[in-house]
Amino acid sequence: MTTIQKQIAPQIYDLWLRPLRPGEKLANGKMEILTKNDFSAEYVRDHYGVLLETAYQEASGQEVRLAFRTDPDATPVTPPPEPEPIATKTIETATPAVSTPADIGLLDRYKFDTFVVGDCNSFAHAAASKVADNPAATYNPLYIHGGVGLGKTHLLHAIAHQIIEKFPEKKIKLISSETFMTMFVESIRQSTANQFKEQFRSIDILLVDDIQFFAGKTGTQVEFFHTFNALYGANKQIILTSDSLPQEIEFLEERLRSRFAQGLVVDIYLPDIETRVAILKKKAMMENIELQDDVAFFLADAIHTNVRELEGALVRLFALASMEKEPITMALVKESLRNIMRGPDSRQITIDEIQRTVAAYYKVTPQDLRSNKRSRLFSHPRQVAMYLCKQLTDSSYPIIGKMFGNRDHTTVLYAVSQVAKKLKVNKNLARELNALTEMLSN
Ligand code: ADP
Ligand code: MG
Repeated sequence: MTTIQKQIAPQIYDLWLRPLRPGEKLANGKMEILTKNDFSAEYVRDHYGVLLETAYQEASGQEVRLAFRTDPDATPVTPPPEPEPIATKTIETATPAVSTPADIGLLDRYKFDTFVVGDCNSFAHAAASKVADNPAATYNPLYIHGGVGLGKTHLLHAIAHQIIEKFPEKKIKLISSETFMTMFVESIRQSTANQFKEQFRSIDILLVDDIQFFAGKTGTQVEFFHTFNALYGANKQIILTSDSLPQEIEFLEERLRSRFAQGLVVDIYLPDIETRVAILKKKAMMENIELQDDVAFFLADAIHTNVRELEGALVRLFALASMEKEPITMALVKESLRNIMRGPDSRQITIDEIQRTVAAYYKVTPQDLRSNKRSRLFSHPRQVAMYLCKQLTDSSYPIIGKMFGNRDHTTVLYAVSQVAKKLKVNKNLARELNALTEMLSN
């Protein structure tokens, strides 16, 4: 437990993990963990189950599966006499008269001027800066959607920074959907639900990160729906981010879904290579480190999953350079990438795998992709698959051609360039490629 404690914010640890008690060893080899109530059982299982299992395994050296169950001896009616309730402390400090970036937990480096704009995010960036310049006057709510590590949180913080600067009198709250839920549940436990409602309804700008975590949390959704309506009705600005579109979030109440979609929904896609290079150069500049073009290009070409990973690779490169006291050269970048390639969580994606995944996605068969069938039903998935093979594997055009029914390398070249061209103008295609890349990277 002590290792877990180090990884989790103290309030969260006290709220969810400290109260856990070991239960019995069950016949099927599972270990029982007792919680205060059914809600905690579910919440802890969903959010910390894996973490706890890993910690138990590390401590005991044995595989263990955990089963979470409400402690029959727990007395949920009378709250235990505790030092000072955490939630109320948060409530008091969370809404000072004038917000400063630090009070609302903004990261300094997530601002508009550190955000690199490219084709993949120009629409989202434009909408975000409009909203920041004129809160509640343009798009409401603004819903920023995109895969992991593509800059949603960065943009959200950038909006908040700019509003604080331009409108210091506005009351701003930036929160993740998980924190909203934790505070809501805690307010019920502490019988401070009114206070909770009050603090959310008295703000001017509400920014909620990662609302996909509201999925399936019915009670929290109802509360958020009321908060949303109260703010929206009073013409307050709401900004949301999510890794899914409103209609894709499972177990999201219909009325909440339509509320989310009634403003502007903007997407962020995977950045193209030029944007990736620009991002690397910007990050290097922020660290006062010189990054040569060839090195930046090499790194941007090797890492095409998302910006967070790109950043991670850059940080490792800087670390290696400073450890070895060497300048950042091509040789060094190759060395640092070799380590990543060998890492436990990176594996080689194969052409075969791409064909199977793409075929399943478009509801055709891998044979269809390798066949000569000309209908768009097959030619579109085929081109997409070829494009992904070029992007995600080290295979050459002739090899890819071979694997697609012995086609000539010029056919592959053509397919790849077609997809790249369409990608610039076709948002649906970008979304398809995003989804496929994510599936393949897991
Ligand atoms: P998300 O919330 O979409 O998962 P983040 O906003 O946390 O992604 O972004 C991951 C990292 O990548 C952050 O460090 C962020 O600064 C960086 N990043 C993402 N997009 C850009 C961009 N366009 N310009 C500069 N940095 C970016
Ligand atoms: Mg995020």
